[in-house]
Parts: sequence; structure tokens; C-alpha cells
Amino acid sequence: VIYNDANDYNVIVGEGDPWAREVVGVIDFGDMLHSYTVGDLAVAAAYAMLDKPDPITAAAHLVAGYHQTFALTEQELELLYPLIRARLCISVTNSAYQQQVEPDNEYLVISERPAWILLERLEDVSEEFAHCAFRHACGLAPESRSSAVVEWLEENANSLGRVVEPDLKVDDVVVLDLSFSSRELGDLTELSDVEAMTQRLFGRMKAAGASVGVGRYNEARPIYTSELFKAEGNDGAEWRTVHLGLDLFMKAGSPVFAPLDARIYCFCNNAGSLDYGPTIILEHKVANGTLTFFTLYGHLSNDSLEGLYDGKPVRQGERIARIGDYPINGGWPPHLHLQIIVDMLDREGEFPGVALPGQRDIWLSLSPDPNLIARIPADRFPSDEMSAEAILDVRDRRLSPTLSISYNEPLKIVRGGMQYLYDEDGRAYLDAVNNVAHVGHCHPRVVRAGQEQMAVLNTNTRYLHESLARYAERLCSTLPEPLRVCFLVCSGSEANELALRLARSHTRSEETIVVEAGYHGNTTSLIEISSYKFDGPGGAGPPPNVHKVPMPDLYRGQYKRSDPLAAGKYASHIAGEVEQIQQSGGQVGAFICESLLGCGGQIVLPTGYLSEAYRHVRNAGGVCIADEVQVGFGRVGSHFWGFETQGVVPDIVTLGKPIGNGHPLGAVVTTPEIAASFANGMEYFNTFGGNPVSCAIGLAVLDVIEAERLQENALKVGARLMDSLRGLMEEHPLIGDVRGLGLFVGVELVLDRETLEPAADQADYVVNRMKQRGILLSTDGPFHNVIKIKPPLVFTEANAEFLVSTLDKVLTEDFLKA
Ligand code: PMP
Repeated sequence: VIYNDANDYNVIVGEGDPWAREVVGVIDFGDMLHSYTVGDLAVAAAYAMLDKPDPITAAAHLVAGYHQTFALTEQELELLYPLIRARLCISVTNSAYQQQVEPDNEYLVISERPAWILLERLEDVSEEFAHCAFRHACGLAPESRSSAVVEWLEENANSLGRVVEPDLKVDDVVVLDLSFSSRELGDLTELSDVEAMTQRLFGRMKAAGASVGVGRYNEARPIYTSELFKAEGNDGAEWRTVHLGLDLFMKAGSPVFAPLDARIYCFCNNAGSLDYGPTIILEHKVANGTLTFFTLYGHLSNDSLEGLYDGKPVRQGERIARIGDYPINGGWPPHLHLQIIVDMLDREGEFPGVALPGQRDIWLSLSPDPNLIARIPADRFPSDEMSAEAILDVRDRRLSPTLSISYNEPLKIVRGGMQYLYDEDGRAYLDAVNNVAHVGHCHPRVVRAGQEQMAVLNTNTRYLHESLARYAERLCSTLPEPLRVCFLVCSGSEANELALRLARSHTRSEETIVVEAGYHGNTTSLIEISSYKFDGPGGAGPPPNVHKVPMPDLYRGQYKRSDPLAAGKYASHIAGEVEQIQQSGGQVGAFICESLLGCGGQIVLPTGYLSEAYRHVRNAGGVCIADEVQVGFGRVGSHFWGFETQGVVPDIVTLGKPIGNGHPLGAVVTTPEIAASFANGMEYFNTFGGNPVSCAIGLAVLDVIEAERLQENALKVGARLMDSLRGLMEEHPLIGDVRGLGLFVGVELVLDRETLEPAADQADYVVNRMKQRGILLSTDGPFHNVIKIKPPLVFTEANAEFLVSTLDKVLTEDFLKA
């Protein structure tokens, strides 16, 4: 007896961890009947596939889960897809009937429209592909006949003919790296230029003395950039990246031979941009006709198709084609794409040569390794890259457990390009959180500046070098008077560490006033002034010389946005600390404050806060340090520096993160007066700080910010982003507050807008789901319930819209509604 009605409305799910929820019950037993048990799964799958851009993957998840608890047989798997479609047919037929009987009962037709859409969508999915996908979900070889083809090719290796003239077993071939992590491919922006790519690849072959360049099978590649390779997945857009053939890069016009007897199965000019161009598919019947498979030859010359007809016999060794040139070969550097196909999946004239990473195993099974025919010795291929698991394993054993990793399922990122990061499968992630890659990941101008200088000279500040002088002038010119003396260091921590020394030698006092939840760096003395750390896990509170004032948080703090005097009230806590220091006979040293609070939860300081605070501190003889490590260099949009939005000029400014766009660079800029107090005879030497390479990179970053008007962009896109985020608040009560300046934005999630109870689990869920949908974010704030948005400044309005619409989708998911 089967239940026969496992749909979303009938399944009851338990509470708790959204990533490990289980079905705890079902309701509505009116459809129970005596039948084949696989019918239950077919019904459930038909529902699970509704409204899914990629229904087969949705069903495969269900099949995998079902199989774990109640194993499926191979026969059942073979029938599953037809049963699902039959169920959908019954469903639409039933709806039509019910509509006549009970025209007012909406529930009875609730799935009619999506069922029709799904039925039509499944017209494009071959039965054999679905079968392979379901077998794969159960841990079976996806294409059951694949191993027979592989075995036959292995056993008959010595009787196969050549595919191209050079003998790939002995002649010089070079295996090219066309993967996402390739250092041979150059910058992603160059990939659309076929001439540049041809020069690069053929140059590499020439340098290696090879007549053939080999492009690997099962390699995820960044070169498939046209719409042809884009697909709509269940978690947003996906790109086909995984190469299913073997490429043989050779001069255009080189002959191609049939490696064994065949007949022409089909031929076609697949003329789209980055498509196959002229293509031939041969059919091979071997083992006395008991085994059939196909070989595909793509990117051929136009005349290769002349005189062909379907079914035309071809002898082993016969020249069947010539390698084509661009543009007729689809617009690629000249090469032959060779692919084996076990089942044509009802296709004509072409067969996918590149697969979605999520379907990798299924397609590799349908198209086994063409090197079974080409027979390039294994030792020509470089060893595989380390898997994410292998890296995790080494990290576990060799690195400190205090290093954290983002996301439930860690990412292995292998390439960056402007506001995008790419994992090893080529999945593109929109980076909405990395403010270090300020002008864009691997910005070509910054990269070039570093590479060129590194090839010429890298020393230290004990020699005279023009780039140090130019950078010091340039950096100081971005700051107001009297901030005219700079020190170059290698990190934000080094900058703050030095700032403390400067302040202490100027005031001869170590009494330091800090802001709650502030973070200033990882050294011993910086942990002592970082409430984020000394008040956090493993922290031991502040030492006696460190005085903490409340975070001036207008949303959650003591004084709210509605209070016009809030800034002064928050600043009066500083006056209070000053008084206490003085009463206990001390002298105020420094007040350090981030210009916008990052770890504190993307807090914008109340208008007038810093000017009041600075007044209290300076009246008592203290110096004011602005930590601009997170927010400097135009991020806030309206100004180049965060402190400028507060109308103040600090005594010391510390810079880091964005200053080198990822290169370890930092700086401290102060007044000549404070710099003079520090010059007490002791040398300040920093081995790496101010080296020519760092200076060249720092200069390039400033150039790019200016040339690409990135501050302006931060203002424009940031305003748009915050507007759209605020637009979500009506629909989603979970969003308690949206705040920020420019492209430094926080979205605070709360369970209740009155009590402001933090929604930390929900924030964590959102960040992990956004990542699954291709957008990188993180959480912070004392309650870990603030979503941080601080992308590279090349972030566009379209990126902002994508972020907001995706957030909208994620916020409607069941876990967040419960
Ligand atoms: N100050 C602030 C405000 C920071 O956010 C950080 C780093 N998160 C630092 C200083 C320390 O910089 P680094 O990690 O480069 O030493």
C-alpha cells in the first residue's frame, strides 16, 4: 500500500537547524492505494519539480534521499522518469475534470499551471539523461553502458588509428592549462579576444617545442563566456564550464583521421559564437555489432562537410576533415575538439561539449575520456589540483584552529576578477563583502604595477627611491592639513600599533579610550584596545589603562535616532572617562575610533559625535586616532575619508586593507608635531614597509580610484542599494534596520522590531543561502545579526539589484517564516 500523495502541502517538517531538518510526518491519506512502491517517489518528485528551472536536479535530490532510506532497484530507476511524467499527465487531466465538477474549489487546481509548464519543460529533457541523473543520485554509474565502451577501447588500444598526423604517444605535445586557476591564460578580460588567446596558446606551444597543444578533458574553464553556456539553475544562473572533450591545438588546415571504422552519423555547421562550427559525428559499431558508440569532431573547416551524407561509410585512417580557423570554427584558436559519446540523448548534429559542474559526473559518464583514443601518455599531464577536502585536511593538521573558514560548505576560490570570485568549478560569486579588493580583484592596472616593479627592484627605505617619494606626496595630498607626515607599514595592525606608539610618545601616557565592539588589529597591544576581542570569546576584558565607552548605535543603543541630542550624549561618555582618568591622577593618552564601526555592525556614527568626542579628548591633552582601515579611500562615497563625514581632522589616521587592493600595505599619517615627538633618537625601521613594489601598487590603486571615478560610483550605487534594501523592509519584518554610507552598508535582522531581539541564526542562514545563490556576504555586530555589505567599489547598480532581488527571495524561504 502506498501513500500516493507526498506533496508540499502534506509533508510536516521538524523544527531546528535549517540545514538538517527532517520530515516528521505526513497528512491526508485519502489517496492511499495498492501499487508499486516507486509510485510514491514518482508522485513526490513530480511535486518537487514544479516551478524549478532545473527540475531534474530537484528530483535527483529527492531520489538520493529516498534511496538512502528505502533502496531503489535499477529497474525502478529506469521507470521513474516515465512515471513522473505520467503522474503530471494525470494531474493536469484531473484538474481539468475537477474544474468542471467544482469550479470554485481553488485547491483542486493549485498545481495545474505549474504542472503544464513542467510537462512542457520536460519535453526538452531526454529520457536517458533523466535516467542517468537518477542512477547517479543513487550512487550507480550514471550511464550503464559507459564502462563497456571504456573497456573495449582499453582492450583495443593498439588497433586504433591516429586522429591527427603527429603520433601523440611519442611526438612532442604540451598539455595546456585552461582551468580557472590557470596562470597561462592571463587576465579574464583577454579571453574574448581570439587573436590574443591564439597567440598565447601557440606561443606556449612554440616555447615548449610542441606541435600539438592539448586541452584537457574534465577541466572547468573560464573561456565559455557566451550566452550559449548559461543555464538557469534552481539557485540562480549557472554556467557550463566542464570540458567533456580533448582539445588538440594545431595549425588550421591540419588533417583529421578516423581512428576506426565508422559511418557518418550526422554532420552540421553549428555556427553560433563559441559553438562548434563545422562538426562531424561518427558512429562506431564494434564487438561484432553488439556495442555502439560515437565520436565527435568539432571546430572543423567548412570544406570538411562537403560531400558527406548520413550513413556514409568511413574507413579507419581515412581523412575525414581538416582543422578549421577562426571565425568559421566558432571563433576559437584553431583546434580539434574530440569527444566520445555513449548515448546521443536523441540529439542531432551536435552534443554538449561542456557541462554544468553540478552535472559533471553524469556527463563524464556519457562522454568518457577521449584520451582512450588519443593515447597521450599519462605522464604528460600535470597532477590534479588539491581538492577542497585535501586542503581542509592539511589545514586541520598544519594550521592553527584559530583560523576560521567562511560558510557551512567552505569555498575553494581559485580566481578573482573585479567584483567576482570563482571557485574551481568556475562558479562565479558576486563578492559583496571584500573591501580589501577595493578597485576590483586582480585589477589589471594594479597587477601590472606590482609585476613590473617586482621584476626591476624590491628593497627597503634605506635607499632612495622615487616611488616612495611619489607615493608619500600623493597619499598625504589626499588628507587635510596638518596630516602631512606618513609612515608606510604592511598591515592595518602594524598601522594601529605604530599609531599607539606615536600617541604614547607624544602624550607620555598609555591611557586609551576605546569604543565598545571596536577592532583595531591582531597584536598584543591592539587586542588590549579592541573590545571586539577582549569582550569576545577567549577575551579577558580590558587592562586598567583601557577605558571603554558605549558604541554610539542609534538603532540598538541607549540613545536612539529619534533623539536629536544622541550624538552629544554618546560623546559625554568620553568626557566621563576623561574625568575618571584625571581623577585617578592620570593623563589622557589617545582616543581611537573607527570612522564607521565595522565589527560593531556597520554603524554610522551620529552626526557630530566625533567633533564632540575630539573636543573632550583634546581639552584633556589627548590625541585622536581615526582608524580608516575598513572605510577609507572613497568607500563612503560623499568623501574620500570616513572621518571627513564627521567634519573633523584627526591627529593620527591609520590606513590598511583597501590601500593595496590585496597587497600587504598599510600606512599611518600624522602631524609634523606628533612625528617630531616620536623622533627621540630611536630608529623606526620596517623591513618591508615602503618598499618600491608596495609603493608602485599603492600609487596604482590611487590612480584607479581616480581614473574610474570609484568614489562617485560608491555614492551612486550605495544610495541605490540602500534604497532598494529599505524597500524590502515592508515585506520582510525580519529586517530591522538598513544603514550605511556609500558602499559600506549593514542590514540588521531582528525577530521583533519592538524588542529588537537579534536574529543571529536567521542572519547566518541568509548569508549561507546567499552564497549558494552566488553572492558573498558575512555577518557581524555584537550579536552576529548584522549582514555586512562592503563590496569592491566597481560594484554596479545591476549588481546591487541582483543582491536585493536575491535577498528578497531568500527572505521568503520557509525557515525564515517559521
Ligand atoms: N582596524 C580595523 C577597523 C580593522 O577592521 C582591521 C582588520 N579587520 C584592522 C584594523 C587590522 O588590520 P589587519 O588585519 O590588516 O592587520
